[in-house]
Amino acid sequence: MAISKRPLHLLIAAPRGFCAGVDRAIRIVELALEKYGAPVYVRHEIVHNKYVVDSLKAKGAIFVPELDEVPDGVPVVFSAHGVPKAVPAKAEERGLDYLDATCPLVSKVHRQAERLIESGHHILFIGHAGHPEVIGTFGQVPEGRITLVEDLEDAESVVPPEAGSLAYLTQTTLSVDDTAEIIDVLRRRFPAIKGPKSEDICYATSNRQAAVKDIARRSQAVLVIGAPYSSNSVRLVEVAEREGVPGRLVGRADEIDIGWLGGVSTLGLTAGASAPEVLVREVVDFLSGHFEVTEEQIDGVDERMVFKLPVSLQAA
Ligand code: SF4
Repeated sequence: MAISKRPLHLLIAAPRGFCAGVDRAIRIVELALEKYGAPVYVRHEIVHNKYVVDSLKAKGAIFVPELDEVPDGVPVVFSAHGVPKAVPAKAEERGLDYLDATCPLVSKVHRQAERLIESGHHILFIGHAGHPEVIGTFGQVPEGRITLVEDLEDAESVVPPEAGSLAYLTQTTLSVDDTAEIIDVLRRRFPAIKGPKSEDICYATSNRQAAVKDIARRSQAVLVIGAPYSSNSVRLVEVAEREGVPGRLVGRADEIDIGWLGGVSTLGLTAGASAPEVLVREVVDFLSGHFEVTEEQIDGVDERMVFKLPVSLQAA
């Protein structure tokens, strides 16, 4: 007699997965491969997802940590997270053909940082140490004119230079709620601090966090597909946990611990901005092998954002 599988209701968040910046960055590498032929070098992982990186490697992309490893005469793409100014300057000096896949919303923060420095401000930058986006933004301004604020503790203790006005900017992929608390502390301590008109946390990060909050409230656990070094994916797990349900991050279906789902009859499922939809289907198929799965998509904001490709690739 066949053993019947336990029912598992999946609440799948929408929007989830690829954002317009990730879509554009991947397309830039693909079009560069079509235009120049393989190999095309990419400085850093184009987006934080192993599946995406491996797929592009299979098409002829070569990923390197630094520009020094790009041979002369081959094209190079800069990742969606943005790069310090010194990187394109170095590429120009070497006569390299380069394509900048920096997300336009990250570039916007770079321009804001430049303008604030020009107008004599010192910047408190809310972000995570070591993240490529933070390194890229710090690399837009002279050393000593920007200070990193990682958390509430930093916000309470940061001592900015006495001279000049103060402003804050943020990384694009932070937790909306945590960042609001940090900004509140900065505003309390420095009432004249200047901030962006609307926060720099991007639309994709905010929408995915709102969507995961919604499914977390109706689920007993939440599974997030994404890389451990993908900032926006890690934030999705944290947002789910803030709603009082356990959250887990998995890169691929084979990382799912079925034991963790013991007693769970309604599971929330979402994917970070750098995780493709194919991985969501892989997870659903994997779960269907173990449970009698029913799927329900919970629709949030309808995203229609599309970013233009660099002019040199538009006709490719
Ligand atoms: Fe751009 Fe936001 Fe996507 Fe990052 S998560 S690439 S900032 S749209």
